[in-house]
Amino acid sequence: MTMKLAFIGLGNMGLPMARNLVKANYEVYGVNRSKAKEDAFVNAGGKAGRSAAELAQDVDVLMTCLPMPADVEKVFLGDDGVIPNGRKGLILIDFSTVSPDLNRKIAASAEEAGMFFLDAPVSGGTVGAEQGTLSVMVGGEKAVFDQVLPILEVVGKNIYHVGATGSGNVVKLINQLMVGIHTQAASEAMVLGEAMGVSKETLHQILSASFAQSRIYDRHYTQFVQKNAFEPGFALNLLHKDMTLLESMAQESGTPIPLGSYAGTMLASAKAGGFGDKDMSSMYLYNKERASVKTERKYFAVFLPMKDAEKSQIYRPQHLAFLEEQRNAGRLFANGRFADGGGGLVVYIAQNEEEVKSWVEQDPYIVQGARSYEIHEWDLVKGHLF
Ligand code: NAD
Repeated sequence: MTMKLAFIGLGNMGLPMARNLVKANYEVYGVNRSKAKEDAFVNAGGKAGRSAAELAQDVDVLMTCLPMPADVEKVFLGDDGVIPNGRKGLILIDFSTVSPDLNRKIAASAEEAGMFFLDAPVSGGTVGAEQGTLSVMVGGEKAVFDQVLPILEVVGKNIYHVGATGSGNVVKLINQLMVGIHTQAASEAMVLGEAMGVSKETLHQILSASFAQSRIYDRHYTQFVQKNAFEPGFALNLLHKDMTLLESMAQESGTPIPLGSYAGTMLASAKAGGFGDKDMSSMYLYNKERASVKTERKYFAVFLPMKDAEKSQIYRPQHLAFLEEQRNAGRLFANGRFADGGGGLVVYIAQNEEEVKSWVEQDPYIVQGARSYEIHEWDLVKGHLF
């Protein structure tokens, strides 16, 4: 008897993946937050109309492909979610990109409830999902992996069992490190080429036959930039999410990823600039927009001498949150405090001193009277030039 399957999250990836399972003659029940996607799935021969909790009592394997870690956590662990309502023996496969820590948390709850969990993030984009050629990197028990391999072979072509729970996402986030950097690299290359009078078409043709060739550049150029159409695909918001997860993973392991961190900062600025819902290839548009701002960018060092140590202690979290917003808006170059307790220094990127002053006066440290400030234009001798 063929296995009965459930697929939760019929988005850009989930819908074509679930459709391929229907084509492979599985009985598949789809669930999506917005009902139009469920209708599209029913039109493709899938079934719908049952909740995740009901399906968790009935099917053999339940799969998810959801956007954010919070969605994944809610679907698996929420009161009306899969694990509190599922049956013993149920196999769970999560294709979403989330942190290895969240995978381990869900796997532990699944185990307690007598279920089995695999993290199985994918790579290869919507084209790979349509064609069933995704790479699938799986963490969890090998025996469970072997049991569901025929299903994984329908959605993907290159299927890997990496190791213990969470290890699929370790590899996936490392993949995203390079996707994020290559996205920024391809965007810079195209914008610089244009500024130097080389057409994007010529550049793509030549670089694709040279060492600069990259699968991400090729994807961004042929599927989006060339067509001047930026509907996702893979939303920039999701790549930003991945870079944030990556940053935490790298930090926990004590491994600096300077280029990855910088690519994450650029994505955050693009997100703040309104590009979040577009495809990640719109980083090209964002870089072009930045390049077209002809006004010169200058650096300003803002010295924040200690005024009230107690207040500084109290308002430090708010000050740091404020700086994070500035970083996301692309205004912050660096920040840090003096080890002797005398204050701190924030370096901003701005067009003029008035602009910096208007930002500094919103800093909770200044608003609350914890620090005073001095602004000095600063000549950067060596560092990131952007
Ligand atoms: P998407 O936003 O297109 O699709 C997600 C779907 O989940 C949406 O249809 C949404 O309505 C649905 N959803 C959200 N919360 C739900 C809930 N509680 N119950 C039911 N449905 C819910 O996202 P996507 O591009 O398909 O990406 C999904 C995951 O796969 C993400 O983690 C992403 O990082 C990863 N991924 C995407 C790509 C890509 O190219 N798009 C490639 C590899 C990995």
